[in-house]
Amino acid sequence: GAMRHLPYFCRGEVVKGFGRGSKELGIPTANFSEQVVESFPSDISTGIYYGWACVGNGDVHKMVLSIGWNPFYKNIKKSVETHIIHTFKEDFYGEILSIVITGYIRPEKNFDSLDELILAIQEDIEEAKRQLDLPEHLKLKEDNFFHLPEGKIVNNH
Ligand code: ADP
Ligand code: MG
Repeated sequence: GAMRHLPYFCRGEVVKGFGRGSKELGIPTANFSEQVVESFPSDISTGIYYGWACVGNGDVHKMVLSIGWNPFYKNIKKSVETHIIHTFKEDFYGEILSIVITGYIRPEKNFDSLDELILAIQEDIEEAKRQLDLPEHLKLKEDNFFHLPEGKIVNNH
């Protein structure tokens, strides 16, 4: 199921992805390591989700997230990729990304063209923005999960 595991809290290092050119499409996605992906419930649905995200001890931003099949592993392993709805000055590979997934938008889809894919993602982003303003989702932005004590060691970093 998609909703059964929500809200889902997760923290881990941002690693290099498959390089499918998300950034070139204007939609960079911060990938979690294989280890973090393995820690997800095995029966969580693939598809597009939304929630809150924070890099290191930075601000908490809205995000959309995809749980999908990872082409690098011949689609036998999942990948979890977060697009944070915020413009960052620099990349943040190697940093700790904290997320809470609060809602589900839709299953994975195949698109006939790149334009259709980009349009769908833009609609996902608008849907995420609207949903996250609702009190039940907004309240998770302030969750203590996002307030890492200074200098606290997480995930061996
Ligand atoms: P990769 O295949 O390595 O994941 P992407 O094209 O998906 O490459 O770009 C992802 C990287 O872009 C992230 O790891 C992060 O360092 C950087 N980045 C910059 N802005 C964002 C953002 N708003 N959301 C997610 N990642 C971002
Ligand atoms: Mg990516």
